[in-house]
Amino acid sequence: MQHVHSFAAGQWVAPGAGARSIASAITGDVIADAGNDALDVQAMLAYGRDVGGLALRAMTFHDRARMLKALALYLREHRPALYDVSYDTGATKSDHQIDVDGGIGTMLVYASKGRRDLPDAHVYLDGVPEQLGRSGAFMGQHICTPLQGVAVHINAFNFPVWGMLEKLAPTLLAGLPAIIKPATATCYVTEKCVRLMLDSGLLPDGALQLVSGGLGDMLDHVDCQDVVTFTGSADTALKLRSNANILSNSVRFTAEQDSLNASLLGPDAVPGTPEFDLFVKEVQREMTAKAGQKCTAIRRIMVPQAHEQAVIEAISARLAKVTIGDPRDAATGMGALVSGAQKRDVLDKAAAIGAEATRVFGDPDDFAMADSKGAFVPPMLFHCADPDSATRVHDTEAFGPVSTVMGYRDLDHAIALLNRGQGSLVASVITHDGDVARAVAMGAGAFHGRLYFNNRDSMAEATGHGAPLPHMVHGGPGRAGGGEELGGSRAVMHYMQRTAIQGSPDILTSVGNRWVPGATEHADKPHPFTRVYGDLELGDTFNSPSREITLDDIETFAHFTGDTFYAHMDDAAAKANPFFPGRVAHGYLLLSFAAGLFVQPDPGPVLANTGLDNLRFMKPVQAGDSIKVRLSVKVKTPRNEEYGEVRWHVTLTNQDDEQVAEYELLTMNAF
Ligand code: NDP
Repeated sequence: MQHVHSFAAGQWVAPGAGARSIASAITGDVIADAGNDALDVQAMLAYGRDVGGLALRAMTFHDRARMLKALALYLREHRPALYDVSYDTGATKSDHQIDVDGGIGTMLVYASKGRRDLPDAHVYLDGVPEQLGRSGAFMGQHICTPLQGVAVHINAFNFPVWGMLEKLAPTLLAGLPAIIKPATATCYVTEKCVRLMLDSGLLPDGALQLVSGGLGDMLDHVDCQDVVTFTGSADTALKLRSNANILSNSVRFTAEQDSLNASLLGPDAVPGTPEFDLFVKEVQREMTAKAGQKCTAIRRIMVPQAHEQAVIEAISARLAKVTIGDPRDAATGMGALVSGAQKRDVLDKAAAIGAEATRVFGDPDDFAMADSKGAFVPPMLFHCADPDSATRVHDTEAFGPVSTVMGYRDLDHAIALLNRGQGSLVASVITHDGDVARAVAMGAGAFHGRLYFNNRDSMAEATGHGAPLPHMVHGGPGRAGGGEELGGSRAVMHYMQRTAIQGSPDILTSVGNRWVPGATEHADKPHPFTRVYGDLELGDTFNSPSREITLDDIETFAHFTGDTFYAHMDDAAAKANPFFPGRVAHGYLLLSFAAGLFVQPDPGPVLANTGLDNLRFMKPVQAGDSIKVRLSVKVKTPRNEEYGEVRWHVTLTNQDDEQVAEYELLTMNAF
């Protein structure tokens, strides 16, 4: 028997008093135990806060992103070990891939987003500076800094690896240490993964701890710098979020719980269309992957009334081809539920649904594995003839391969049925009609964390109804828990505090490590294009001489480029346009002249001009006007050992010092 350990305050702790036994989903035999009432949860919180948090906060977002990448690649090398221990959870090889590979993939996306969307700095700037005073001497900026506590992640049994990594990646990227509390039923898989991560030596001490078994009274000791996330049943979520300490300290609590996800066959997707076949395929896959134990699995199937029978027949035909059995057998298409207790729960809930709906496929007393001691059930498809008066089909989550077909009269009726789930993680809509998609987005968006549209155009690349993607929000309102996970760098912010900073441009520049217009300009140094990356400081500025724009310049540019738009060539036509006083210089002529004014032409540390952001033309320039350029170092971002990116704030002003254009120029500069 395996003794599943916890990892607390730097030590592995074996099961002890209060340990629970864990049975194999396939044989029903006890294979492991976990839990120890003597676990010192307060020491764990202190270790995370004092050791892990300090180390993580000393790193920049990019340091932490690189750490995530190395960790994910390390785990990827060790995937077979994770697959091996996962079979006893009842999951098949393809289920492991969703769990293990999906978790590693999620971590890799966060590693990449961390370096692309977040700065190589300790402070995240949320939005742009706000001018709060008349002249710009008093400004505002929202910043995010890491919380100084610990994230306690209480996870569900169904994804022992993905469920951990999808929360751990944004947590560590934010700079917050984590304590993972997996569901006991599958904690031996999580323990294996945590051991691998700790053995890799890639994480600072205190960044990752593990509670196998009960959490003790940890939630009575969290405070306003901690975050608690929960995935599991609505009942447990309610109990935990009502904890007096969590409520009185306003501890952030994110829940992802029971969700009556739906899939809608669009009115256009009649039998014979590619959408009809796609719908049937997705429903069958979602019912049987992980034996239906997916938080995003399709529980309600909505189809036009005219096609109810065709849909039932088509789904049943596919379900009949799914082989149920030992997940180690390569021929098995669907394994077991996680435990005998879960099997009883699913059968009870299927019976409750059966009070309002007819079972049209799958008899739990009569299928190939009916006599097994393992937690096997067949896929069960129900048909609800009167979904308007039914309630159980809309509020009972049988967490297994159980789903109910219901007919709708028209799109409004379909939308009303979708929303009867009272908040779900995902609804899919299989349609080739943009108007249907728009009506569903407007009518049902507010009730669903994600709307997944698929049709013949996207099906080759679509990732599946049930796959939460790291780039996109995962979570949902109401019954689904009201929380948000993933969603790219949005999720990182869940582990940080947003603070409004107010002060002078110099103060904002110092806090945010990004030069703010109005802050000190250092204009007395050699031309910034002659200085290597490391010598450039925020606010280093070059002021160019001015250059007059002539009519000849405008005409030459027009004929050379072919841009003979009337505003540049025809004075009368330009005057008739409310934006122009008469013929004006091309905006791109001004940009080209600006480059000529600020460039330092000799070979030097500027390697490439890689782009231009936020360009605005603010005032027309006519022949006879002159322009000059101010170029200031705004942000510096190292890219590799050889060069870094410099973001320059550029303004063009005319002879009256009025701003005519503004933009940000990006260059790569050698170290
Ligand atoms: P639970 O709500 O019982 O458990 C979820 C997590 O909470 C587990 O880690 C569990 O640990 C932990 N937990 C339970 N009680 C406490 C407590 N008092 N203090 C601290 N932690 C606690 O859900 P299950 O995983 O058993 O699943 C039951 C049902 O939840 C399913 O049948 C399904 O309906 C639903 N579910 C929904 C999911 C979704 O995302 N929609 C995902 C998974 C489940 P332990 O295992 O040690 O008790």
